[in-house]
Amino acid sequence: MIPLSLAEIAGIVGGRPHDVPDPEQRVTGPVVIDSREAVPGSLFAAFSGERVDGHEFAARAVQAGAVAVLAARPVGAPAIVVDDVEKALGALARAVVERLGATVVALTGSSGKTSTKDLIAQVLQRHAPTVWTPGSLNNEIGLPLTALRADGTTRHLVLEMGARGVGHIRYLTGLTPPRIGLVLNVGTAHLGEFGGRDRIALAKGELVEALPDAGAGGVAVLNADDPLVRAMRDRTKARVVLFGEAEDADIRAENVRLTTVGQPSFTLHTPTGCSDVTLRLYGEHHVSNALAAAAVAHESGMPVSEIAQALSEAGQLSRWRMEVTERADGVTVVNDAYNANPDSMRAALRALAAMGRARQAQGARTWAVLGQMAELGEESLAEHDAVGRLAVRLNVSKLVAVGGQEAAWLDMGAKNEGSWGEESVHVSDVRAAIDLLRRELRPGDVVLVKASRSVGLERVALELLDGE
Ligand code: ATP
Ligand code: MG
Repeated sequence: MIPLSLAEIAGIVGGRPHDVPDPEQRVTGPVVIDSREAVPGSLFAAFSGERVDGHEFAARAVQAGAVAVLAARPVGAPAIVVDDVEKALGALARAVVERLGATVVALTGSSGKTSTKDLIAQVLQRHAPTVWTPGSLNNEIGLPLTALRADGTTRHLVLEMGARGVGHIRYLTGLTPPRIGLVLNVGTAHLGEFGGRDRIALAKGELVEALPDAGAGGVAVLNADDPLVRAMRDRTKARVVLFGEAEDADIRAENVRLTTVGQPSFTLHTPTGCSDVTLRLYGEHHVSNALAAAAVAHESGMPVSEIAQALSEAGQLSRWRMEVTERADGVTVVNDAYNANPDSMRAALRALAAMGRARQAQGARTWAVLGQMAELGEESLAEHDAVGRLAVRLNVSKLVAVGGQEAAWLDMGAKNEGSWGEESVHVSDVRAAIDLLRRELRPGDVVLVKASRSVGLERVALELLDGE
């Protein structure tokens, strides 16, 4: 972070120094909320959770070198005491972002935020120093913590923003006002929680409403292929850049295909030229994510050849997202168990089908090991049924549906699609799935593992890969 004295921080957050021997002592970062991560120069922000109270760990953080504690009450160690630690953290982030010379890029969407954020970071990083959200820390605490990692050398600050409901993104953009705002898609993730796609669009669109005018450099990067995202152009005064396969997109993919191993390949068109890209990632849905990243990089002044090269070299994204590992015995495990919604289920199944096509011709099988997609509300039955059917239509060899009622619906969809019988099985839990796969897998088989986070289906992938 930019070094700030305790006196300056107290001024910014409207707090009272307490037990502070030297107000001119400077915090050099990082700001942490876990005392075990405190190092010399840190500021420890004490949050009170349901089970633990951060204030109790203040002394430990200071022992580890933290300069002071941002706290809601005196803690017997140097502290800046505030009424609301979360608000204070936000205020500090905002003040630091205002002092940075960096371009703030914020992105949201129903699916692919973390994947795209990682792609953007990998591309921009080649161009100039970049700080980005680690993992999926995209809420009112993770966002300021990320922003506070930036320092005077940072040129790009790339921030993932998750929307829990209408008003949430507006609040987040207030903490770290972006100049470039990207909306990926309005899908079916968290449908039950929001109460419909229009509500999701309303919430995600708050990102482009928060951008500066075109004259002040504001840029809204919107998915031309998603009608609800495209319509957001009417909600912003920023300059609009469209990406997608649509003909009028400014940043466009042409000639999209999957290679024989399932990696997408396409020609990237931009207003300043075109260049071929072959991703090292799996699944056609990454074309859209890559175009979004290209649009941001193009706005940041990177030449198209450099963007194409960076995209083609971008490696593994955050863990458990289409993580492909081949075992010594020739079984390939695709761990996409980080999360699932109907869109990402479909995308992953298509990738599995593409990866397995050539192997199936030689007798190997593709396995879809799937679990519940959570938060679908009344759409749940229909969506699980449809995913089961799609597995059959894509000619996946076997479906293993893991869990309770929703898994039964997946299995039922597959069996009702027509030709299937024993190709689909329903097992009650992760243990049963692992036992079944251990018995049945043969060299050359490809296994996709995917469900919502709460199912914990990554244990299947991890056990299958144990010892590799
Ligand atoms: P979260 O809301 O959990 O933070 P996210 O939006 O950050 O999710 P990712 O973690 O990147 O999304 O990906 C979640 C799942 O969606 C993964 O299974 C991934 O394969 C899939 N996915 C990624 N990009 C897309 C896309 N453009 N369209 C559909 N599915 C996608
Ligand atoms: Mg995420």
